[in-house]
Amino acid sequence: MYKAADNRYEQIAYRRCGKSGIQLPEISLGLWHNFGGVDVFENYRAILRTAFDKGITHFDLANNYGPPYGSAEENFGLLMKKDFMPYRDELIISSKAGYDMWPGPYGEWGSRKYLIASCNQSLKRMGLDYVDIFYSHRPDPNTPMEETMGALDSLVRQGKALYVGISNYDADQTKEALSILKSLGTPCLIHQPKYSMLVRDPEEGLLDVLGESGVGCIPFSPLAQGLLTNKYLKGIPQNSRAAKSTGFLQEDQVDTQTISKVQELNILAERRGQSLAQMAIAWLLKDARVTTVLIGASKVEQLLDSLKAVDNKHFDASELAEIEKILAQ
Ligand code: NDP
Repeated sequence: MYKAADNRYEQIAYRRCGKSGIQLPEISLGLWHNFGGVDVFENYRAILRTAFDKGITHFDLANNYGPPYGSAEENFGLLMKKDFMPYRDELIISSKAGYDMWPGPYGEWGSRKYLIASCNQSLKRMGLDYVDIFYSHRPDPNTPMEETMGALDSLVRQGKALYVGISNYDADQTKEALSILKSLGTPCLIHQPKYSMLVRDPEEGLLDVLGESGVGCIPFSPLAQGLLTNKYLKGIPQNSRAAKSTGFLQEDQVDTQTISKVQELNILAERRGQSLAQMAIAWLLKDARVTTVLIGASKVEQLLDSLKAVDNKHFDASELAEIEKILAQ
């Protein structure tokens, strides 16, 4: 029988998500990799238990996380049943639909048909009555934004989601989505963009839109899938995401130019008394518009290492300038 640590709420700070009533831990855990049918039950069970024991109340999923598609939600559902159901009201569980999930024209993108059917499937796989946040996973250029946002609004009105979010929408698309959702009476809670020291797009307008609109921000792949850690400093180790056939990090992304930047960032992190993973997470948390940083982990040790990021979130001006100089090379 799992019993959560009594001191779990003394371990990490919680930030208000935009102007909403929800607070999220500074670090959240995503189940994209490492929780699928190809992964080891006792390993991901230990990761989830450790996360909750450390105050991580937010677990992020999507319909097609696995592989195979759907298996991360199924496995999470099993662990909800075995370990976490007594804590359901302490958890923020999210899912999404937008990328390919099942064959045919109704199994991806942003139609009302797809979003509502997919949310129903996700609830069944996870054994839940509702998700806390349901996202449109990506904008659909061929579906009216009113239809996609209308589907999110309906899910809230049907009691299947408490809040809604959007992911991978650029600044202009975000403005439009926020305005439609507001007019429907279902304000957008949060935006999930790809954002890290190596991927800076949200700084080109998106963060301003979110800050001005009071919408939270949860950057995904903050460690650039492991590149912003000490993992690839000396090549591609066995069992790493880049080495696995099921991983989304491709070998050619571990290129010499990136690794030479990462080596320099690693030296700076050491000087700050942090691991590179910790520095990469802390660097995102320095912006008050970032609500929570959405990490992945393949082992308990990685999670514990990354969580220590919150111990030093301060950067002085010279450190920030040095980071920019390294990244600009
Ligand atoms: P990260 O950038 O945090 O990468 C996680 C990977 O980095 C781990 O699997 C591990 O790689 C390595 N790692 C993690 N911590 C450490 C550490 N302390 N030291 C060394 N290596 C470490 O995030 P993800 O790319 O996994 O994305 C996080 C979450 O974001 C996903 O689970 C998902 O919920 C969400 N996401 C959302 C998307 C969207 O479109 N909305 C798209 C992608 C992700 P290894 O496995 O090699 O050990």
